[in-house]
Amino acid sequence: MERVIDKVALVSGGARGIGAAVASRLHGEGARVVIGDVLDEEGKDTAERMGSGAVYVHLDVTSPRDWEAAVGAAVDTFGGLHILVNNAGIVNFGPIEDYTLEQWNSVITVNLTGTFNGIKAAIPALKQSKGGSVINISSIAGIRGYEAIPGYTASKFGVRGLTKSAALDLGRYGIRVNSVHPGVISTPMTAGMEMDMSRVALNRQGHPGEIADLVLYLASNESSFVTGAEFVIDGGDTAGAVTPPGQSRG
Ligand code: NAD
Repeated sequence: MERVIDKVALVSGGARGIGAAVASRLHGEGARVVIGDVLDEEGKDTAERMGSGAVYVHLDVTSPRDWEAAVGAAVDTFGGLHILVNNAGIVNFGPIEDYTLEQWNSVITVNLTGTFNGIKAAIPALKQSKGGSVINISSIAGIRGYEAIPGYTASKFGVRGLTKSAALDLGRYGIRVNSVHPGVISTPMTAGMEMDMSRVALNRQGHPGEIADLVLYLASNESSFVTGAEFVIDGGDTAGAVTPPGQSRG
């Protein structure tokens, strides 16, 4: 019940999906939580459902000014900041020959520059707390390539690299930085997409709560010796392909 007691967390993209599950899991384990998102109504509802110790702030991760205000809200409302979860993300599609510069810029700006902005904004408060944990939500598209999502794949590889570099720079302050690489998770982002899970070892999509459990570990002191690392959580997707159920292994 109290794995992150006395800690304050800021979760970007926390209005729904994985971010909402993360915010709720951290809150359930004793953290006070600031949820930042551009979906103001959903974000307020999510914070209200969690009850006291949770607040919503408008946060467009592409805006350093919004980040400054979000970190300020954590410090002013709850007295500091210990955990930053860079979760906000978008996806767009198209084979590279059709993919536009506008598509590229929008996904890189949110997923990669947004994560950079978050880390930059949080550093002073995390230092003030004598350390902390930054968790960057990448993807298995940050581990291997996927067709027709060139910007998303590049952004998620970028988040993986940024994580390593930031971990090296911030270790001296007791700030740990790690990346999480989910496979296909059932959220509004993937709703309506056709995903064949038949070759995945666990033969199903993941749930947001399963990602939240891993983030909780990385946010807590249980992971005190873990930094600069990447955590794949994909039901075995990147391990290799299995024979689909019902087909002969031959
Ligand atoms: P989602 O669309 O349900 O939630 C993403 C949230 O980010 C939304 O609340 C959205 O409003 C917010 N957001 C988007 N742009 C923003 C901005 N500029 N500023 C602030 N907030 C913004 O998606 P999800 O599936 O919960 O994804 C969460 C993270 O997990 C993303 O980074 C995504 O790339 C990553 N991820 C998802 C999956 C999956 O299968 N769902 C797999 C791997 C990685």
